[in-house]
Amino acid sequence: RTVYVNGEYLPEDQARVSVFDRGFLMADGVYEVVSVLGGKLIDFAGHMVRLRRSLSELAIAEPLTDDDYLAAHRELIARNDITDGLVYLQVTRGNPGDRDFAYPPEGTTPTVVMFTQSKPGLADAPAARTGWTVVSVPDLRWGRRDIKTVQLLYPSMAKMEAKARGADDAWMVEEGRVTEGTSNNAYIVRGNTIITRELSHDILHGITRAAVLRFAAEAQMQVEERAFTIDEAQQADEAFVTSASAFVMPVVRIDDAAVGSGTVGPVATRLREIYLEESLKLGV
Ligand code: PLP
Repeated sequence: RTVYVNGEYLPEDQARVSVFDRGFLMADGVYEVVSVLGGKLIDFAGHMVRLRRSLSELAIAEPLTDDDYLAAHRELIARNDITDGLVYLQVTRGNPGDRDFAYPPEGTTPTVVMFTQSKPGLADAPAARTGWTVVSVPDLRWGRRDIKTVQLLYPSMAKMEAKARGADDAWMVEEGRVTEGTSNNAYIVRGNTIITRELSHDILHGITRAAVLRFAAEAQMQVEERAFTIDEAQQADEAFVTSASAFVMPVVRIDDAAVGSGTVGPVATRLREIYLEESLKLGV
């Protein structure tokens, strides 16, 4: 695989980042994941807006322009022959030359890394026909989940717990209400209404979430942005999650209860179709 590091395209075994990089020592960095379908980048502009917001919240200097990022994404897609897959992009505060809690003085160059993951048939994942099962776990993450940092240890632990309990993913719960999945936003459906937690510091502002809510409203569905409990979710007609890599993924079981009929429902199915169709049209 050819990867991108600080302006260079290198074979992955020749790419190097300093041991003093604050991304490595302190998880002091942010990331984005953009999906590629048929060679096109899905909702690239949305991901760039969120990247800039994450960087600005952490006062990390903006290393590249949107055009630079787009050119690098396209170059990696071409060099790695990606038809369907993902492009991962990470920006860390860089290498100040030593370890210190204080941010380094201005002038430390951020480290920019990008690589591709090939996922043939990404949009036709068999799981979309059977649905995911999820288990609930307490949300033990920090208080600024709206910033897309590389601090992913707790979501990894939650994913491992889900796997150990025979499920596909975990829904994290705080003060009795679902925040989100380990790497996706969570929704329930009641009748013609889609319910998903409102935006705040408590959840990541999903780029797929924004698109799906827009498409849902255009398709005359009602959208309610509010938190819900595991109990309410277990009694809902349907449930699903959204993310740049899973698109719209139905959820058919939560802990020990089937959701609705326990099979993939019509609303999640329709939203997945609309999302894939509409976002492909807007691919760049
Ligand atoms: N929530 C969390 C915690 C995530 O990590 C992600 C994606 O990685 C999402 C939600 C979904 O965001 P997006 O739709 O922008 O991929």
